[in-house]
Amino acid sequence: MTRKPAERTRALIVLGEVPDDAPAELKDALARRSQASVTGVCACGATVEIVEAPGTDGLARGVMVHEPGCCASDEALDAIIARTGWKP
Ligand SMILES: [Zn+2]
Repeated sequence: MTRKPAERTRALIVLGEVPDDAPAELKDALARRSQASVTGVCACGATVEIVEAPGTDGLARGVMVHEPGCCASDEALDAIIARTGWKP
């Protein structure tokens, strides 16, 4: 029996730069977020969910919904920035 090759999907992964002057807490959160984006799995257990199938450009769109309290979530990053007062 011949196995059919897995269908390939391309993805564009946008990673934010970790600013040198950011507070350590923010650097750690951004590092976790980048790691999750590259591997597709966050330390909190979140995984990428494909929300838009590949179009004519061959790119799929996905999101990662982090568990409550995960420092890599949008809400946590916003809270860290607000709490530390850090500005780019
Ligand atoms: Zn997470």
